[in-house]
Amino acid sequence: MSERVLDGKTAVITGGSRGIGRATAVKMAENGANIAIIYAGNKEAAEETRYQAGCFGVKAEVFQCPVEDGERVKAVSAEIAAAFGKIDILVNNAGITKDQLLLKMSEDDFERVIDVNLKGAFNCIRHFSRYIMRSPEGRIINISSVIGLTGNAGQANYAASKAGIIGLTKTAAREFAGRGVTCNAIAPGYIETDMTAVLPENLAEKLKASIPLGRTGQAGDVANLAVFLASKAAGYITGEVIRVDGGMAM
Ligand code: NDP
Repeated sequence: MSERVLDGKTAVITGGSRGIGRATAVKMAENGANIAIIYAGNKEAAEETRYQAGCFGVKAEVFQCPVEDGERVKAVSAEIAAAFGKIDILVNNAGITKDQLLLKMSEDDFERVIDVNLKGAFNCIRHFSRYIMRSPEGRIINISSVIGLTGNAGQANYAASKAGIIGLTKTAAREFAGRGVTCNAIAPGYIETDMTAVLPENLAEKLKASIPLGRTGQAGDVANLAVFLASKAAGYITGEVIRVDGGMAM
């Protein structure tokens, strides 16, 4: 087999059980990386990702870990480092929505989304970076959203979490640059996954009509960029936010 761009790397993908996380895990495996899949509660889906990644002849394991729980993230980071020997790539992809108009949004729903989407990414960067800094080509890739750039009615909590991811990304990029670790964010648009499958039909149609390329995105569209950002070829890119949205938010 010819050399693959992530050969010998170890990648941790949070929310790797479904959607964009699964596509990223499998695409990174296809490109030679060993894969640690973090999931919240859906073991069966995580095992399916493990199976699909394993088909490319790499090591793949699943780890149950709610990313908002810093102590658990710390323990799992040590488990993964022990199981794989090293960690080169972290993809902070785990995310949820709890939509409601701002005036009706409860504090609980605001906090829950910030906890998982933003604090979860912080926890993972905090605890995985000690291993990633030892890699000669360490990479942190955070999944933000175009909603973090534009805002969106009904998504105050989500938009705030995704805008926060951008500030977190640029800060991590500055703090880890001296260790040769890059940190970038991907801002997907409308990607067909479980998360968007629950959108009301009329809203889904309206969103699709706002995409210049005339189609919704697939999880693989995001995974392709994640693989590139994780590769040696992207070594001079850091602190960047790249949209994968068919032109939706330009
Ligand atoms: P899905 O709903 O399909 O998958 C969500 C993933 O996150 C699952 O693997 C889930 O695990 C995991 N997860 C949820 N909560 C936690 C938690 N507390 N701890 C650990 N893992 C958790 O989402 P998508 O694939 O659509 O989205 C992935 C990322 O991309 C999210 O950050 C989302 O905000 C972002 N995004 C998505 C867009 C889209 O159009 N789909 C657009 C822009 C950004 P489990 O299976 O165990 O529940």
